Amino acid sequence: MVIKNVELETVCGVTSMLPDNKLPEVAFAGKSNVGKSSLINALMMRKSLARTSAQPGKTQTINFYNINKEIYLVDLPGYGYAKASEKEREAWGQMIERYLNTSEKLRAVFLLVDIRHAPSANDKQMFEWMAYVGYDPIVIATKLDKIKRSQIDKQIKIIRQGLGADKETIIVPFSAETKQGRDIIWDFMDQVIEN
Ligand code: GDP
Repeated sequence: MVIKNVELETVCGVTSMLPDNKLPEVAFAGKSNVGKSSLINALMMRKSLARTSAQPGKTQTINFYNINKEIYLVDLPGYGYAKASEKEREAWGQMIERYLNTSEKLRAVFLLVDIRHAPSANDKQMFEWMAYVGYDPIVIATKLDKIKRSQIDKQIKIIRQGLGADKETIIVPFSAETKQGRDIIWDFMDQVIEN
């Protein structure tokens, strides 16, 4: 995938109407701090288009990035943010659920988990939910540069087991530092555009 043009086209809050897009969509979900903004910036070859957690005032929205007028990259709100109230958590969950259930153009879903840790209960719930609504989630194991190469297989196994994913589920190790794994994710996006 060659990134020629990226535009943050639509930002949806909790009660916003979701856009009725004409292009295919791919969505990215994951708990807060997992490295989703860093991944999105790396994919789009931009330093700070998606806001990273280090920046204050990060709001919980669904952001639709139009790439090359060919595909939308959909940034879903990060869940499990430690300081969020119960009410906020519920609102995010409902927002993600509403999007997954109603988008007519959603073609692929990516679930991000940290390669260093076993998935959380929220990660597992999100994985099951995506499967339940009919998607085969592609798992991205982030922060690959933080573990030794010899640990990768073991961590992938822990993630697969923790999510309750079968052996067909694709798990892509990724690092926003080294950009390892980026081409594989671009390939999935190209497949979506071509189909
Ligand atoms: P988000 O909340 O999921 O959007 O997470 P961010 O992209 O803001 O990342 C959270 C923190 O993890 C930031 O301090 C990032 O610099 C760091 N981070 C994200 N991805 C990587 C990675 O691949 N490698 C390393 N070493 N740090 C990362």
